[in-house]
Amino acid sequence: MLSTMQDDVPLTISRILRHGMTVHGDARITTWTGEAEPHRTTFRATGERAAQLAHALAELGVAEGDVTGTLMWNNAEHVEAYFAVPCMGAVLHTLNLRLPADQLSYIARHAGDKVILVNGSLAGLLAPLLPHLPGLEHVVVSGPMAEEARTALAGASGVRVHEYEELLAGRPTAYDWPELDERRAASLCYTSGTTGEPKGVAYSHRSVYLHSMQVNMAESMGLTDADLSLVIVPQFHCNSWGLPHAVFMTGVSMLMPDRFLQPGPIAEMIERERPTHAAAVPTIWQGLLAELTANPRDVSTLTQVTIGGSACPSSLMKAFDDLGMRVCHAWGMTETSPLGTIARPPATVVPGSDEEFAYRLTQGRFPAGVEGRLIGPDGTELPWDGESAGELEVRGPWIAGAYFGGVDGDPSRPEDKFSPDGWLRTGDVGVISPDGYLTLTDRAKDVIKSGGEWISSVELENALMAHPDVAEAAVVAVPDEKWGERPLATVVLRNGAAVDFAALRDHLAGSGIARWQLPERWALVAEVPKTSVGKLDKKVLRGQHAAGELEVRRV
Ligand code: ADP
Repeated sequence: MLSTMQDDVPLTISRILRHGMTVHGDARITTWTGEAEPHRTTFRATGERAAQLAHALAELGVAEGDVTGTLMWNNAEHVEAYFAVPCMGAVLHTLNLRLPADQLSYIARHAGDKVILVNGSLAGLLAPLLPHLPGLEHVVVSGPMAEEARTALAGASGVRVHEYEELLAGRPTAYDWPELDERRAASLCYTSGTTGEPKGVAYSHRSVYLHSMQVNMAESMGLTDADLSLVIVPQFHCNSWGLPHAVFMTGVSMLMPDRFLQPGPIAEMIERERPTHAAAVPTIWQGLLAELTANPRDVSTLTQVTIGGSACPSSLMKAFDDLGMRVCHAWGMTETSPLGTIARPPATVVPGSDEEFAYRLTQGRFPAGVEGRLIGPDGTELPWDGESAGELEVRGPWIAGAYFGGVDGDPSRPEDKFSPDGWLRTGDVGVISPDGYLTLTDRAKDVIKSGGEWISSVELENALMAHPDVAEAAVVAVPDEKWGERPLATVVLRNGAAVDFAALRDHLAGSGIARWQLPERWALVAEVPKTSVGKLDKKVLRGQHAAGELEVRRV
């Protein structure tokens, strides 16, 4: 029997836009400008400008399926592009502005960007790439840019340069959005390449729609139209974890930091604009914590903080709890849209108890739309017993089933990334408790394989960062004649702290790390290298060690 429901109503982003513009038309998007007043607009006005942008892009020749790139900070114009491009049937490709030039041009070429929208402050980054982008026809610049960048852009052959506001001016504020097949690509996002070359994932209208509903659920971010969300996680990092789409469903207002991502301005934004929620990777929060410790501010409205992208250190969660900023830890990846698991503790635990804290530190539970399983080294599925460690595999309607166009001639479904029965191999290693909580112990590529046993680099880092003298720590595997690999602990000390590796080693032993797992190699570093999305860059650290650039001491 077929259903009697309207199953052929496609789940498209234009439905989300129409809803946000009408039912939540007064919800706000505030963009930090670094001046006395931020830029303020509403969902209604954003939708109208998205329509104007779509008319402009259509005139530039953007047709259904064409790829439009953005090289932009988190701001109102970027949200306009988020809706204009996919709703007109084209594909939005968010470029990661932290990537080195060669990777950026590789990605823009691989994706086939025909138009790139760029913030004026980033035009200088784009200009040198243009000779490497033969398929690019138009560059649209929003906001002021330096004269040098203007000259460089103007000198590029084959590319026409436009000014965003001039392009939009006078155009109709409504657009007859086409009724699209929900399975069509809406946006393209590349992995940040922490462990390999960047790979493209093309989200569909349907996957974005379903993922947005999940983001909005109480077990996920659970925000309402009474909330103001400070969206620090970049719009190029898995679509700001789905927030810009999700908020148009529920009327959550957004505070966008634009290029003001340093701890000082972030603290000021929180105090002045009074957000209730914020989302970012741990590195951003470590910086804010140091800032708030040095220069206390009123951050009392900010009671919910979503942290993901890498494991949330327990010391950070504890410090934020003390400031009244309750952390909700989540796990995901570009390939999972990104919401994969969320750590809401079960209702049965006592609020504020150690047991509750332990649940909050896990990566969390799978939402109903994501199925997870653990696969052991011999390829068999492992039980959810909290002990059996294996590689996490996931599947579901917002999980990638292939990569866009393959990479460098690679197949689009490489075997190390997809199982024969179609699950995504995450490359993350962990355990799942009988009540369904995932605890990741490492990335398969970062785990330290010592004498046939595995040492979790993340566990060592977390224990190290709980020491009062340690500002930051990263542990990587280095070759060892006897054991194959051994951990090398690199440490950034807090201001004024003196180096005492023996004491740090004792601290690790005292935090329950088994003796055979304790690092004997230590190095003091001024700073741990970070990837383009603010994760510890272990590839670079391993390279520095191999090149003899680290001063390693044996303890
Ligand atoms: P890249 O794979 O290039 O780093 P992604 O941003 O897609 O780009 O990263 C996804 C990876 O980040 C996951 O596979 C996982 O290793 C790590 N990650 C994300 N969230 C968490 C978390 N809460 N705890 C531990 N690791 C995490």
